[in-house]
Amino acid sequence: MTDLTTLSMLEAKEGLALKKFSSVELTKAHIKKMEATRDLNAFITETADLALSGAENADARLADDVAGIMEGLPIGIKDLFCTRGVKTTAGSKILSNFIPPYESTVTQNLWSAGAVMMGKLNLDEFAMGSANLTSAYGPVKNPWKATDDLNKEYVPGGSSGGSAAAVAAGSVMASTGTDTGGSIRQPAAFCGLVGVKPTYGLCSRYGTVAFASSLDQAGPITKTVRDSALILEAMAGYDSKDSTSLKYEIPSYNTLMTGDVKGLKIGIPKEYQVGGLDSEIEDLWKKSIAWYQENGAEIIDISLPHSKYALPAYYILAPAEASSNLARYDGVRFGHRAEDVTSLDNLYEKTRGEGFGDEVKRRIMTGTYVLSAGYYDAYFVKALKVRRLICQDFEEAYKKVDVILTPTTPTPAFAIGEEPKDPIAMYMNDILTVTANISGLPAMSIPSGFSSKGLPLGMQLIAPKLQETRLLNAGLFLETAANFQGLATNVGRIS
Ligand code: GLN
Repeated sequence: MTDLTTLSMLEAKEGLALKKFSSVELTKAHIKKMEATRDLNAFITETADLALSGAENADARLADDVAGIMEGLPIGIKDLFCTRGVKTTAGSKILSNFIPPYESTVTQNLWSAGAVMMGKLNLDEFAMGSANLTSAYGPVKNPWKATDDLNKEYVPGGSSGGSAAAVAAGSVMASTGTDTGGSIRQPAAFCGLVGVKPTYGLCSRYGTVAFASSLDQAGPITKTVRDSALILEAMAGYDSKDSTSLKYEIPSYNTLMTGDVKGLKIGIPKEYQVGGLDSEIEDLWKKSIAWYQENGAEIIDISLPHSKYALPAYYILAPAEASSNLARYDGVRFGHRAEDVTSLDNLYEKTRGEGFGDEVKRRIMTGTYVLSAGYYDAYFVKALKVRRLICQDFEEAYKKVDVILTPTTPTPAFAIGEEPKDPIAMYMNDILTVTANISGLPAMSIPSGFSSKGLPLGMQLIAPKLQETRLLNAGLFLETAANFQGLATNVGRIS
């Protein structure tokens, strides 16, 4: 029998429907892979027992012909989504003992669609990071290696690093991620996977540990574009428990996608030729443009003039919101509580001092500073104005084009230990992705090629609000043109 962990979800769905294998068999194959690849540190909590009972239930529903669209497919959940009865840490020591009494809407939607839960995936602490190096549960390794030195371990990207590594390793068929500034797209690019950040409000934020509420959006990481279309359909939908949730009927994306791009107008923003853009990525960008052009798409040069202010604005807005959101971790109601304290203030100080890592503390301090009475207008209000200008840039651009094509990241994955040591240099990882969060637009990363060292490279597409079908369709074309529809697991180091 073929190795079930190399299948895409659509292939597995077909195999389940034709009774070539059961969900229990499919799940057991993935549990085996999860156990064999523990050195990647992709999971914070493995839930093999839950997976097996979920698979048995799925097999019963498949037999009764009442299967959901994700029936019997084993997936992993970023440990930022609350899962009832299963520890949810947000990658932080401060939540090391937190067992949620409720389920996030996104995960509930997935279980209702029949998905099987394999476990909770490692991430940067509170989703703050670009390399999965800030997790209190240790770094995650990228399953991919560079051909010039097979002993070197690479970062999987972040903050959804465990989510990407587990899919690339074949221990789950897909995973959920969250993207506040690029945390789905950047790890997807580093691990040769598809990552989709939907329109803000498409997936409910209810039960997802908040980082920056006006930017946070859940989305999938998968092996193929069609798999992303499938799981997104299951995850998304209006939720009265989230006041920013969009009242919008989620279509069956896959039935609407053809991969045809004839007549599609593709915008190429000149401002995305940022300094520090790797020349191999720039070449791949040109190659991708040519593929679209050869297949009837129209390429149009555009300008997004305020893009250069996006990263500074993001690193004001995101920490500001984070400093407010993280005020709830005080050691009183839930999570870690410091011992031997002398006063209430001392309890807060000690708990937060012990519970948060350096990057989280840096964000809280930056956020509190930009919100302080003396600096509110100079920083926070200014950043809000920049946000409006960036939104207007996109509105102007979409009068001329249907989608925008850019690279996802300025560089390929870097080796663990060779990461930028200066936090500002690390923030540069998000330079091409943050604009989509600032503007709330849907965007995705598509694996489109390799560096000369054999590391995966991703291209990014950005579409107008709620144009996920158009986005996925343009992504499907690129995936096929780049010949990346073969599964990433086949070429990674995991056999
Ligand atoms: N890397 C960015 C940050 O550290 C984005 C994180 C995210 O999207 N969650 O803030």
